[in-house]
Amino acid sequence: MPASFAANTLRLPSVDTLLRHPACHPLLDRHGRDATLATLRQLLDDLREPVQLNQLSPAELSAEVLLGRAGERMTIQQQSRVRRVFNLTGTVLHTNLGRALLPEEAIEAMQTAARYPLNLEFDLASGKRGDRDDLIEGLIRELTGAEAVTVVNNNAAAVLLALNSLGARKEGIISRGELIEIGGAFRIPDIMARANVRLHEVGTTNRTHARDYEAAINPRTGLLMRVHCSNYSIQGFTTQVPTAQLAQIAQQHGLPLLEDLGSGSLLDLTRWGLPAEPTVRQALADGADIVTFSGDKLLGGPQAGIIVGRQALIAKIKKNPLKRALRVDKITLAALEAVLALYRNPDRLAERLPSLRLLTRPQAEIHAQAERLAPALAAQLGAQWTVTVQASLGMIGSGSQPVARLPSAALCLRPQTSKKLRGRSLHALERALRSLPVPVLGRIDDDALWLDLRQLDDEQQWLAQLPALQGGPLQ
Ligand SMILES: *Cc1c(COP(=O)(O)O)cnc(C)c1O
Repeated sequence: MPASFAANTLRLPSVDTLLRHPACHPLLDRHGRDATLATLRQLLDDLREPVQLNQLSPAELSAEVLLGRAGERMTIQQQSRVRRVFNLTGTVLHTNLGRALLPEEAIEAMQTAARYPLNLEFDLASGKRGDRDDLIEGLIRELTGAEAVTVVNNNAAAVLLALNSLGARKEGIISRGELIEIGGAFRIPDIMARANVRLHEVGTTNRTHARDYEAAINPRTGLLMRVHCSNYSIQGFTTQVPTAQLAQIAQQHGLPLLEDLGSGSLLDLTRWGLPAEPTVRQALADGADIVTFSGDKLLGGPQAGIIVGRQALIAKIKKNPLKRALRVDKITLAALEAVLALYRNPDRLAERLPSLRLLTRPQAEIHAQAERLAPALAAQLGAQWTVTVQASLGMIGSGSQPVARLPSAALCLRPQTSKKLRGRSLHALERALRSLPVPVLGRIDDDALWLDLRQLDDEQQWLAQLPALQGGPLQ
């Protein structure tokens, strides 16, 4: 091929010529005139310089080729930005990867809610206006023993709303050991400030006693607050006042006790061999007046913040105008109801609720899967990589049980390059896996890339896309 072409043979077709070309009809049909026109203009702009520099052949400037390229551009632009991924990080309820996976029952309920009108705020029995909380109130009361219930956008909203409804312009007393940051700018002191509750901290980071709370209560006190320290643990010389005792203090002074359980759980998880997490029922039985928890953490449902507790306090919370700003939509409510319904039969929950099924997958089963998949991956990666099956330790995630580990198994990919090049190889492989049609996300640790297989459900699809690694960014 000559390095350049005779200058007079190179000309870009006009936008009009391209628009009138028969090969443009399908593009106009699929993407519309405006998008097609804008894409063609951009494409011709991009080609002006290479054309001037004689870097292109006449064939590369034919109308068919240019329209083909425009079509590809528009197809890429049209791809959804919401993409499915394989979460092989080892963290099951990964906040950045969407937390809990919903059961089929919930997905069906969401489809119904999306497709048809529904009784969102309409009481079918009386024919009168209803309240959207009524759709799930009965189930949540049954599962937690609560007097009343309301649901908002997420647990952060639940905490904000409860604090503002019960403690605005007053003081909220809380232990210094519970002034936590959850991540994503959710910090208890900041939320209290935004809720217009004056923070009154008591005790120390590691030890807070009943007498600390007693001594702090004064005429300006509006509530006592307890926050479950879900994402860190203080060990050693520590003291915390049990909820039951704190509730007694609150009651003696006629103050509400608000408990943010974070994840919380509707059932005792130890029956599945998982670490103990406080249950909502227990917190209420211990005397907490209001308890808040997330819908998409250990509960395994959609993003939501659930507020349960005393009838009179819930009524006050529901009257707060902020409730309207923080309420959940019909699709969330439909999914939440379907997930909660599964809890009625705990014996089958671990097979029906995806997050619990994944959290309780036996290590031996994951190990066998890793053994099964290792040879195929090794064959794709070639001699420059060793692929071994290793025991690994995963996490529940979403701030539940930060110290607890889930014994799992991983494919461990190690570059056979010199120590100097190892980091670059690892990052290239990490990027190649991330660029697959369904991106594969693992974690780099100890000079290796780890793919924890606890959450690899769709083995066939995972295997099928491995050949795409060849010729990708790895090369
Ligand atoms: C996760 C968490 C929150 C925030 O819950 P979201 O549902 O993510 O808004 C609040 N408090 C605690 C203790 C948490 O663990």
